[in-house]
Amino acid sequence: MHELGIAETILQRVEAIRVENGAVGIAAVQLQIGDLSGVDVFSLELAFGVATENTRFADTRWEFERIAASVACRACGATTTPDGPFPICMACDSTDVEIVAGRELMIDTVEVASTAD
Ligand SMILES: [Zn+2]
Repeated sequence: MHELGIAETILQRVEAIRVENGAVGIAAVQLQIGDLSGVDVFSLELAFGVATENTRFADTRWEFERIAASVACRACGATTTPDGPFPICMACDSTDVEIVAGRELMIDTVEVASTAD
């Protein structure tokens, strides 16, 4: 389950943000996840449950914002939104496309908590 590795990487970054802010804990984290990022949001949510067990992040709220994919086609020039997990032009079915949006996998906002509970 590669989502567990992703969750652990994100947790390291969140911990760094917590330390930088001198916060006791983190109340909530909003993540942006592109539809072409290859990340399964449901699996990632489960992974956070596993990775944060018995840690200071056990009660942190994880929120996931999906970013719709957008691809620019080199063959026909159209910019379309693929309806699946693969970058493909919806106008002409070409796979010769440039991904404009949808690869995101990033921390959007972090809400620090001033108390441990
Ligand atoms: Zn096209």
